[in-house]
Amino acid sequence: MFDMDGVLFDSMPRHAKAWRQTMLDEGLDFPESRIYENEGRTGKSSICLFLGVERGEKEWPRLYERKCRYFEEMPEAPAMPGAREAVKAVRDCGVTAIVVTGSGQKLMLDRIDEHYGDLFRKEWMITAADVVKGKPDPEPYLKGMEKAGVTPDEAIVIENAPLGVRAGHAAGCYVVAVNTGPLPDEMLLAEGADILFHSMQELAQNISRILNE
Ligand code: CA
Repeated sequence: MFDMDGVLFDSMPRHAKAWRQTMLDEGLDFPESRIYENEGRTGKSSICLFLGVERGEKEWPRLYERKCRYFEEMPEAPAMPGAREAVKAVRDCGVTAIVVTGSGQKLMLDRIDEHYGDLFRKEWMITAADVVKGKPDPEPYLKGMEKAGVTPDEAIVIENAPLGVRAGHAAGCYVVAVNTGPLPDEMLLAEGADILFHSMQELAQNISRILNE
């Protein structure tokens, strides 16, 4: 089960800038590190956290739309180097690959098709539209396993964010952290990552060994 942003696409710097600008428009200034620390949440959950539940519940559709617009105005986020090789290595082992993301951003979901359409089981994909709570709750990964018809001991989660690692770990899965961002490795390990790599290339080189263990 592959996460999308920061795993399949090098999109997190753009998300961080788009969130920061959206919140600045609301008079709220906070460092981009706060975005990375909360990566994986749905748009609604992020807005409720940043602005408080009462205001977030009311205003999240407008603010999420604005955040998506800022994101889409930026140059296209490239596919993460090594990600295609990593997904392909999983498929070459005879293992199914699906996407489990907190995102509801249509532009990015469409780009999965464009870049990885031949490698993923699209009908099993989990997005913001499929969940109530979202990461860090185990819900998205539990739903991914339910769709794929597998148990936690048959599933592996690939995540770059602390809250995503927490969700995968809480779902009972083996969690591979790939630290493609600015946070320290310790934050991913503290959330229950079973193994950590620093790039998707490194994952691509090691994934068949992990799957065969
Ligand atoms: Ca991510």
